[in-house]
Amino acid sequence: MLGQMQDWPLLVHKIIDHAALYHGDREMVTREVAGPITRTNYRTIASRARRVAKALVKAGIKNGDRVGTLAWNTHRHLETWYGIAGMGGVYHTLNPRLHPDQIAWIANHADDKALFFDTTFTPIVEQIAPKLKKVKFFVALTDKANLPKTKLKKLYAYEDFIARVDDKFEWKELGENAACGLCYTSGTTGNPKGVLYSHRSNVIHALMAGQTDALGVSGKDTILPIVPMFHANAWALAFTAPMIGAKLVMPGAKLDGASVCELLETEKITMSAAVPTVWLGLLQYLEQTGKTLPHLKRVVIGGSACPRSMIEAFETKYDVEVVHAWGMTEMSPLGTLGSLKWHLADLPYEEKLDIKIKQGHPPFGVEMKIVDDKNKELPRDGKTFGRLKVRGPAIAKGYFKGDGKSSFDKQGWFDTGDVATLDKDGYMTIVDRAKDVVKSGGEWISTIDIENLAVGHPAVAEAAVIGVAHPKWDERPLLIIVLKPGKTATREDILKFLEGKIAKWWMPDDVVFVDEIPHTATGKILKTALRERFGHHKLPTA
Ligand code: ADP
Repeated sequence: MLGQMQDWPLLVHKIIDHAALYHGDREMVTREVAGPITRTNYRTIASRARRVAKALVKAGIKNGDRVGTLAWNTHRHLETWYGIAGMGGVYHTLNPRLHPDQIAWIANHADDKALFFDTTFTPIVEQIAPKLKKVKFFVALTDKANLPKTKLKKLYAYEDFIARVDDKFEWKELGENAACGLCYTSGTTGNPKGVLYSHRSNVIHALMAGQTDALGVSGKDTILPIVPMFHANAWALAFTAPMIGAKLVMPGAKLDGASVCELLETEKITMSAAVPTVWLGLLQYLEQTGKTLPHLKRVVIGGSACPRSMIEAFETKYDVEVVHAWGMTEMSPLGTLGSLKWHLADLPYEEKLDIKIKQGHPPFGVEMKIVDDKNKELPRDGKTFGRLKVRGPAIAKGYFKGDGKSSFDKQGWFDTGDVATLDKDGYMTIVDRAKDVVKSGGEWISTIDIENLAVGHPAVAEAAVIGVAHPKWDERPLLIIVLKPGKTATREDILKFLEGKIAKWWMPDDVVFVDEIPHTATGKILKTALRERFGHHKLPTA
């Protein structure tokens, strides 16, 4: 027997219609790529999104076509997303931090039919344009006055493109399983793989994210999504914020400590989300200037492991709650969030920190388990670690065009490639990425644990650990350090600081100092580059 409830498809553009109708005056602020701070609201965004949709149809974009975006977080980028999704197209976020050849490869693999871009990226677009096989036209996300001088053909200024039509556009009637968005994983090994979100997965993910124990946002919040829209749906904020009527502040191209701090102050931001490297920049800026964070209440930190010292600095120095989160592009991306459960709220602060540095517990809609090499489920005892597998309505069931089949098993589980523990309370801890873990004498050493401890040293800005070949132990950890500007520390200082904090056999065999640690396009430590550079480092123990 079937239920008798309405078959109301979960469609992304219904979110912006809801926002326009019920939160129409709620402000959205953008630091424009051209410089000034501008203000709009959800009513206007929804109207302009319909213009985008109508203009795309007029320009020949069809149902299911992918439309690339190479853009910062701005109101125009958001309008573009909703407009593309609402006319039946697929917004395809391209990561501008990738090498231009890789961007072109991804745009071609996705068969992008048009490309919207911020003027910052004009040189990239000029470089890749001759290689883009399917792109019929380009739209620079600006007005005519700010259009860059360029030889690009078939180029519109966004404001002209949407002025060619009015906002009388009926959203396409789509099934909720229709494709809506596309985002490629950064592919530190092998070619990037596409994750094709559906309207349904995006809406469910936005609902999940909006829960109090997830992102914990409400319509009263002013949210600064620093995490880029090209980094897996801006962690749901591009959908959740309009859904609940929160004020959105879009940071544009400037993500350095001073610029972020300025927006936090002037717009009285209450909640924000970003990867640890961005927060590192802000904390260093605060330290240098003596500024505080009087309005900010909560930050979500994820994308790579958040060090204990970072949580402690936010919470004890600046009175800002930290929610540590873990996720993946393949998971839309949120997988776990570290809000404290009811029975842990009254623990002494140090014990709370022990829990907050874990990656968190899954919201409804994310199933998790850990397995051994034979795919046998392992106990949830907080100690045993294994490969983390996940399943749920906002998790990929395959990659675009059938790539990467081996990551999905017959029971519908996706292998995250992470090694993790699960504890009895449901908190998950990432031990490492399976390919990064140091294999010493048949046992595993977590590079993340050592890195997080090392950055607790007052002179250390950033730390990375890689496995280096060792004649007796196969691999031993090498610790690579970037010092804070003006600070000094020796190899011995660092090792002494780690002593007693980790098992003896986890202690790095050597420490090297570098000016800079390379990062991936999503702000993670680029271990492949470090392995290339230091893979043959001669350990004093070898
Ligand atoms: P990529 O950067 O490879 O394209 P994602 O941005 O989807 O991929 O990153 C997913 C991976 O990032 C996870 O599998 C995990 O290894 C790592 N990651 C994300 N959040 C955290 C976290 N809070 N702690 C540790 N690792 C994390």
